[in-house]
Amino acid sequence: MSTRSHVSIEELDSRVPAGECPNCKLNVAFDHQSRREVWPLLIDRPVGPGRSGGDFNGGGVAPLTPPAEPYVWRVVEHVLSCQRCHKTSVVHQHWGPALPPAVDDEAFSAALKSKKSKVRFVVLVHPRRSADLLHEAAPDAVRDLFGEGTRCQEAGALRAAAAMYRATVEEICKDRGAAGSNLKAKIADLVNRGVSSEVVRDLDEARTLGNWSLHDGLTFSHEEVSDVASLIEEAVFLVYVQPEQRAALREARKQRRDQFHATP
Ligand SMILES: [Zn+2]
Repeated sequence: MSTRSHVSIEELDSRVPAGECPNCKLNVAFDHQSRREVWPLLIDRPVGPGRSGGDFNGGGVAPLTPPAEPYVWRVVEHVLSCQRCHKTSVVHQHWGPALPPAVDDEAFSAALKSKKSKVRFVVLVHPRRSADLLHEAAPDAVRDLFGEGTRCQEAGALRAAAAMYRATVEEICKDRGAAGSNLKAKIADLVNRGVSSEVVRDLDEARTLGNWSLHDGLTFSHEEVSDVASLIEEAVFLVYVQPEQRAALREARKQRRDQFHATP
């Protein structure tokens, strides 16, 4: 199940970006059909003319210099069409100041003054990922919380997303009847409820991220939050989906056996 909610498309600003198509889920090349700034002003910034296909990367990076100085804070919309399924995907690239990683006041203000900007995160606008992102074998409450986390994440509200993912983990513990005085203890108790220790460790990671988001006011990257979403998806697969599939296979085997015995 490949439903990571961050956009995994490389070279978004090239004629032929590549990555996972949000429609057909295959690894594909896209045709770059439209690029424009949609905030704070609407400005068309088409990706270079002409050259198409495989030879694009041969001559190095294409000239993508925009005609006017862009705003530091801006949202750029890209419309890509998949070369396999031909459906379009719309993504928003959120730009902001290129700040130094360490907290150094001087470097910080210099970076702000230089007005250099960088891509802060990329959000898939369409096709929308919905709350049915989690397999329907999972309880509704778990799917609801996870879906809300995904929507927070898509909106760039990463702390809220982390908090919702933590709540999702809490709900999984509740559903499995895990006991303990706090969430950490409950997650640990999942081992006694038929959940593998590997899954337990992953869920504990999700808990930790959600904890930070509420108490320490730390910021984290889209990738970190996405990783936690993936951990939950994997855990849900192992806890809810796989046992259901096993049961279905067992039932199918039983029916075949019964049929065999019924035939004279
Ligand atoms: Zn496709």
